[in-house]
Amino acid sequence: MNFKDYIRDIPDFPKPGIIFKDITPLLATPKVFKEVIDTMADKVKDSDFDTIIVPEARGFLFGSALAYKLGKKLVPVRKPGKLPYDIVEVSYSLEYGETRIQMHKDALSKGEKVLIVDDVLATGGTIKAIETLVKKLDAEVSGILCLIELSFLNPREKLSNIKVDSILIY
Ligand code: 5GP
Repeated sequence: MNFKDYIRDIPDFPKPGIIFKDITPLLATPKVFKEVIDTMADKVKDSDFDTIIVPEARGFLFGSALAYKLGKKLVPVRKPGKLPYDIVEVSYSLEYGETRIQMHKDALSKGEKVLIVDDVLATGGTIKAIETLVKKLDAEVSGILCLIELSFLNPREKLSNIKVDSILIY
């Protein structure tokens, strides 16, 4: 099964000049989604981490299925105004715009080892920002796992100190 057959290119979304990787055909095909989660789980089966961190919104889709499968703690990273308790926050620039992300201030303990999971690794800005949030709580990023890596945007340059695994590289 070729996972790339279930990802479609949407030109000029959300802005002119961006070709957006749409993962909804993959989500809509149960046997493919299951195989994707199993493949992602296999990639990190020997990695040392306690917790999966997921950014809103598409990270939730993959990270929560993985947390269930691997029996790991799950922590959401959200856009401003969504989390109900006290937060830590960081600002960063996206492939298309500027934004802030937040996490609950008691989400991680000192020294906790986390795996960051997302659908698409583009410029690496989102994951770099999550790394900053994790460090604010004195926890540690042990790895990054993404379904899709857009290697032409050179995300690994920003993340040279962390182990990055991706299932599909474009
Ligand atoms: P980065 O911060 O690495 O530039 O962008 C990654 C974030 O933006 C991810 O959270 C991802 O969900 C979203 N993103 C950026 N480009 C795409 C894309 O082409 N397709 C999808 N599905 N998400 C994208």
